[in-house]
Amino acid sequence: MFEKPFDFIRQQFGNQNSIPLHEPTFSGNEKKYLAECIDSTFVSSVGVFVDKFEQAVADFVGSNHAIAVVNGTQALFVALKSLGADASCEVLTQSLTFIATANAIHYTGAAPVFLDIDPHTLGLSPVAVKEFLQQQTELRNGQCVNKISGRTIAACLPMHTCGHPCQVEELQVLCAENNIQLIEDAAESLGSRVTTGHTGTLGKVGVFSFNGNKVITTGGGGMMVTDDEELAQKLRHLTTTAKVPHPWEFIHDEIGYNFRLPNINAALGLAQMEQLPLFLKNKQELAKSYREFFAGSEIRYLEEPAGSQSNFWLNTILLPTEEQKEAFLDQANQQGIGARSLWRPMHLLNIYRHYQRDAQITAEQIYRHAVNIPSSVRL
Ligand SMILES: *Cc1c(COP(=O)(O)O)cnc(C)c1O
Repeated sequence: MFEKPFDFIRQQFGNQNSIPLHEPTFSGNEKKYLAECIDSTFVSSVGVFVDKFEQAVADFVGSNHAIAVVNGTQALFVALKSLGADASCEVLTQSLTFIATANAIHYTGAAPVFLDIDPHTLGLSPVAVKEFLQQQTELRNGQCVNKISGRTIAACLPMHTCGHPCQVEELQVLCAENNIQLIEDAAESLGSRVTTGHTGTLGKVGVFSFNGNKVITTGGGGMMVTDDEELAQKLRHLTTTAKVPHPWEFIHDEIGYNFRLPNINAALGLAQMEQLPLFLKNKQELAKSYREFFAGSEIRYLEEPAGSQSNFWLNTILLPTEEQKEAFLDQANQQGIGARSLWRPMHLLNIYRHYQRDAQITAEQIYRHAVNIPSSVRL
């Protein structure tokens, strides 16, 4: 039934027998830097590669500070915590996201509020956020408070889905008007930009992930970026056991975390950063091929959102019916094509269904029709 798209996908990847959804590419200085790192004996949480990797990411996204950590999930957790998220608070986010976004909120003790996505970006909808703020919240002593729960809305955590930038500039305005901290889950969007900057740099903190399936990888890893010097120091302190600098004493002034990215992972990351422009160009070409192939077909290709630049981490198609989505996934995977569903929206999972949410019309609609198709860099 889907032989034409399957053949086309196979052609894009040199007719391999098995085509993963997204596999890493190591075609640069990865082995060289890893060997240098091992030879130096500095493979753990101190070393030059961590500093160089942080600088490379900060330069690339145009941020004053970058703090490397063990993964994107903990980066989100620390970012939220450092901006005051705790059990007295709520955090606005989208329901259609990878579980890490909601989990990070939960780890702080705060309650997530799940709002709908925009149908073009698949990211948090400014219309949904505005509606929630107008109908469900009021400003009390300058703080945005949920009228039903009485809790403060501490932060808004949009996600740039599959690498497509969400309407983060509009969210920026809404957050400023309501005294809400904007934190971007840019885990999937390294290389994606909106008019006024790189995703992850429009809020107070932005978070990237370098898990093995992301645009670049450090094996496992994450990065927090911010322009706020004081906050950067706090983030660095919290993620390195909150140790007070001293040549021989071990004094810790709060209960911190051991989240610093090891030097050996950063060595891989630095080599990957050198490759990033090539990867992005390559992914843009694949996206163009998919777009042209699906044009005029009853399967709709999800376009790059207007006015933005996507990294095309994952290419998404929308099947005409839910039955066809299931059939596509079933047949593709039987034939070794690593197609995947989008994440089941958080409000439909038992673990998160009891939290406040809006009607979720678009999230459910998209979830019923969307399939991600193989999107690796092809070299
Ligand atoms: C990958 C990802 C993360 C973080 O993942 P880690 O595997 O912990 O690095 C967070 N949010 C989203 C949306 C992601 O896709």
